[in-house]
Amino acid sequence: MSWFTRKDKGIQTPTEFKREAPDGLWYQCPSCKKAIHTREHRLFAYTCSNCNYHEKIGSQDYFELLFDQTRYTELDALMSSGDPLNFVDTKNYPDRVKATELKTGLKDAVRSAYGEMNGMPITVAAMDFSFIGGSMGSVVGEKIARAIDYSLEHKQPFLMISRSGGARMMEAGFSLMQMAKTSARLALLDEAKIPYISLLTDPTTGGVTASFAMLGDFNIAEPGALIGFAGPRVIRETIGKDLPKGFQSADFVLEHGFLDFIVDRKDLKDKLTSLLGMLQK
Ligand SMILES: [Zn+2]
Repeated sequence: MSWFTRKDKGIQTPTEFKREAPDGLWYQCPSCKKAIHTREHRLFAYTCSNCNYHEKIGSQDYFELLFDQTRYTELDALMSSGDPLNFVDTKNYPDRVKATELKTGLKDAVRSAYGEMNGMPITVAAMDFSFIGGSMGSVVGEKIARAIDYSLEHKQPFLMISRSGGARMMEAGFSLMQMAKTSARLALLDEAKIPYISLLTDPTTGGVTASFAMLGDFNIAEPGALIGFAGPRVIRETIGKDLPKGFQSADFVLEHGFLDFIVDRKDLKDKLTSLLGMLQK
C-alpha cells in the first residue's frame, strides 16, 4: 500500500506558508515580512515577535491593553465635529467627517476613558490615526481638555497616547487654538500635582508635538516612532542642509534629550504602573 506512505523524507512546509489558512488569520509584519498568527500578534500587544516592529494600533487596542479586564467608561463618546469655516476641498468637510465616521466607526481622532490599570485609577486619551490622519481639530482638543478635567476632579493620573499628523487643516485657526487650550488645562493638572504621562507613538508630528504631547511630566515613546514638528523635507529645504541619519526617530529624539525613555508596548502597562506608583508615594 505504498500509495499511502510518504516516500520522500523532508518535505515540510513551515506552518506560516500553509495555504489553507483562511484570510485574516495571519498578519504579515511590514518590516521583516514574517507571517505571524493574528492570535500571537495580539498576545504580543501587536508587536512583531521576530523584529519587534510595533504595528500602528488605535484607541480601542490601547484601552484593551491598559484597562484591567478591558473595563472602562468612555467620556464624551458622541462628540463630533462642526464645520466652523464651511470648509471645502475635494469634499465638503461635513461629508468628509461623515464618510470617515462610517469607514472607521469612530466619531473623531481621539477617544478618552477612565478605568483602572493594575488596580490604579487612571484617565486615558488615545488618538486614532485612521480618522483624518489623527488630526487635531476642535473635538480632539475639547475631548482632551475634558479628560484632563476629569483627572483633576478625581485626582487621578492622566495618560495621553498621541498618534497624529498635526492640526486639522479643515478647521485652520480653530485647530491651533486647541494647542493653547490643552496646554492651559495641563498647567492646572501640574498645579494640582497630578501626574501626566505623554506616550508618543508612530507618528507624532505638527501641532500635537508642539503642545500636549511634549508637556508630560514624563514624555515617553514607542520604539521606532517618528517624532517631529515639520517633516524632514520641509526642514531640509528651510535650513539648506542634509539631515543626520535616523533624524526624528524615537532613538534620536531620546538621545537629544526630548524623551525620558522608550517603552516596549508589551511592557507598557507594567512600566506605567510602577512609574505612577513611584510618583504617588
Ligand atoms: Zn517583523
